[in-house]
Amino acid sequence: MGKRPALIVNHENLRHNMSTVVGWCREAGIDVAGVIKVTTGLASVALDYESCGAKWIASSRLEQLVRAKEAGVKIPLLMIRVPMLSEVEEMVQVCDFSLQSSIETLNAVDEAARKCGKKHNVILMADLGDLREGFFEKEELVNTADYVENKLECVHLAGIGTNLGCVGSVKPTKEKMDMLAEWAEAVEDKIGRPLEIVSGGATSSLLPLFDGVMNPKVNMLRIGAVSHIGPLEDIRTCYGREEADVLSDECFVLEAEVIETNVKPTHPIGELGVDAFGKKATYVDRGRRRRAILAVGRADYGDIDDLVPDLEGAEVTMASGDHTILDIEDCKEQLHVGDVVRLKLKYSAVMRLTTSENITIEEIGKL
Ligand SMILES: *Cc1c(COP(=O)(O)O)cnc(C)c1O
Repeated sequence: MGKRPALIVNHENLRHNMSTVVGWCREAGIDVAGVIKVTTGLASVALDYESCGAKWIASSRLEQLVRAKEAGVKIPLLMIRVPMLSEVEEMVQVCDFSLQSSIETLNAVDEAARKCGKKHNVILMADLGDLREGFFEKEELVNTADYVENKLECVHLAGIGTNLGCVGSVKPTKEKMDMLAEWAEAVEDKIGRPLEIVSGGATSSLLPLFDGVMNPKVNMLRIGAVSHIGPLEDIRTCYGREEADVLSDECFVLEAEVIETNVKPTHPIGELGVDAFGKKATYVDRGRRRRAILAVGRADYGDIDDLVPDLEGAEVTMASGDHTILDIEDCKEQLHVGDVVRLKLKYSAVMRLTTSENITIEEIGKL
């Protein structure tokens, strides 16, 4: 048995999910940018996405795109967090495409691209209410597009895009997609040519696609979450949509070792202060119950809500930085010290586990 705790990455399941998602989008005339930031940019995952028909590999972190390139990804790389001015030079050397929302940065990109003799493609972002990056007024976006088109020699205006369902939780409704299409038309009228790309958002923008109301002008989605997390992602857990149920929720599984299985009260005994993280917690008294302590903790995965034990009757109840308490009173199977428990994972847990130095990453079915 390998070293524990381990994050098991199942590439066959990943490729099943990626091909399925690429297929959904293709049917609607949409190309997928495969977003790899979920795993802190495992290059093997970028190669999966490429083999499944993604047209771009995308990340919010330049280092991850550098790794993808070094691993041999051939399709264009797309930087999806607006780049820092301090990384523009490197960004232009590594990436072919980026999302942009400021004139200062666009000017810097133009200068950097000229220096290395390249033409860099940009997608200007429209903020349609989610309040993260992007131009908030249509006129501002149209004028910036016109500026890029006519004043910046080494920047190519590839298209416009938006991001929703993020910091502002705004749903990508039909209305929002129609609004993006209308802004794209306004840009096209101004510059007198069609845009190549209208980028309609992330995983959450699959909702209008599932409903058959996606605006036909939208021809790119940037997808990370649902391809990696499947039905444990918001599409199922928050929006109750069944479409993602054909996807695997076992692309990433955490294997943790049991270090204790003593029976204990469920309510702490004594005067209560704060927990290990300085938070006041509440505890429900369910009497004495058997529980297992796993040798993995919040330092590794973040929040217990992002763990789904693959063991009938088991429930994650509490955790410290290095311990996770699993209530196993109702489990049919007995657990013993030394046993290994498998936990399915939601998005942020995968993101954190791939950065934890305590976690061994084991890859199955790597290309
Ligand atoms: C993270 C991100 C995505 C991918 O989002 P998912 O919900 O993981 O599909 C797409 N676009 C941008 C700009 C992002 O930052």
